[in-house]
Amino acid sequence: MLSNSLVELDRAHLVHPVASYRGHERRGVRVLKSGSGATITDASGRRLIDGFAGLWCVNAGYGQNSIVEAATRQLRELPYATGYFGLGSEPAIRLAAELAERAPGDLNHVYFTLGGSDAVDSTVRFIRYYYNAKGLPQKDQFISIEQGYHGSSTVGAGLTALPAFHAGFGVPLDWQHKIPSHYAYRNPAGSDPQAIIAASLTALRGKVDELGADRVAAFYAEPIQGSGGVLVPPPGWMKAMRHLCSELDILFVADEVITGFGRTGPLFACSEDGVIPDLMTVAKGLTSGYAPMGAVLMSDDVYDTIADGAGASAVGHGYTYSAHPVSAAIGLEVLRLYEAGLLENGRKAGARLMEGLRSLSEHPLVGDVRGRGMLAAIELVVDKERKIPLPASADPSRRIFDRAWDNGLVIRAFGNGVLGYAPPLCCTHDEIDAIVERTRMTLDQTLEDPDVR
Ligand code: PMP
Repeated sequence: MLSNSLVELDRAHLVHPVASYRGHERRGVRVLKSGSGATITDASGRRLIDGFAGLWCVNAGYGQNSIVEAATRQLRELPYATGYFGLGSEPAIRLAAELAERAPGDLNHVYFTLGGSDAVDSTVRFIRYYYNAKGLPQKDQFISIEQGYHGSSTVGAGLTALPAFHAGFGVPLDWQHKIPSHYAYRNPAGSDPQAIIAASLTALRGKVDELGADRVAAFYAEPIQGSGGVLVPPPGWMKAMRHLCSELDILFVADEVITGFGRTGPLFACSEDGVIPDLMTVAKGLTSGYAPMGAVLMSDDVYDTIADGAGASAVGHGYTYSAHPVSAAIGLEVLRLYEAGLLENGRKAGARLMEGLRSLSEHPLVGDVRGRGMLAAIELVVDKERKIPLPASADPSRRIFDRAWDNGLVIRAFGNGVLGYAPPLCCTHDEIDAIVERTRMTLDQTLEDPDVR
């Protein structure tokens, strides 16, 4: 009864992110009620394993008491503090220092945001300011990668290269450019890692030549392209791109909004790749989704250039909720949990997840299995030889999501028949095995579905 009235209220009033509004009205909302560890329970009492950690963010799992207590303490003591007027709060200062200590290289300066999109926006603001401070205002062109995702603001959606975020919104903006993705499974350069790296280097060099090296400000890359379908570049790809950016004198921005905080194993994926970006964005796992927060980490050079350029003037960039003390207190406790065993558990669970998903490679619908750590995807095809995707007309993603749900599993079903996995790092081996088994069951049922084949 309660649930039915919620469905009606939702239909009438709540506008959902990245949804077909009319499709959602027809189907109605599924109300989530509670969570514990890697399990969520819906309003009807159905229990499911959350194989996607909410939206790749609840890395610590649900119902972690110590996080709730840290948040509650901070809410009681000081629920809000602005960073304007030279003010600050202890958790925000401490979290900035802890992040700087652990970040690669000299990313020593932390600007807190509310999430990933405004972190990406902030990088664009800082980078424009940086070049203006250097007396190079003409360096105002930005390059990112096809299939990349960098947020849902106008600026971030323009750096994003997924059609749904562009169509009807008037983006990308004219200073936002793309080069092809490394997407190994469908790369015209073939699947050889060296050929893929060479193709990406040639593409970036070509794009910079086309725009003029003196006009390009920055290049953006995710260590693994998440929303584009978990596209994993070959080892050495990030490092090669980073080096080329240094050579071409453009800033390298690593968008670690998904890959940060243990998702691929280490605290930051850049560390594993041996890459030191000029700027890095994080969010999601920073607070494990318990409160909104993101951050931009800046190198000494970027920060000092902006600071010196501004001199006595204010750098006019800031949000009411920058460095929110409750989010920061949560961030500190989540960071403690990562290092008290969560990262370690995630690494073991990630190895098991990859092994389990790879065991599905022989399934007639599975064209590709890819991932690193607790970030993975399966790409489904109807013809393995010719890599023919499932027919889009059958809305296979929706059907697969619904079937997985009925089998007690939440996964991400991307529009192109790619299934995404990003379970909480606290998953037990049994839970990982259940994710794989429930996927197998879902694939078997999909194989029997005449509309999808
Ligand atoms: N960058 C990347 C790589 C992301 O995956 C996301 C979100 N999925 C964002 C930016 C935007 O973050 P948010 O949704 O918190 O605004």
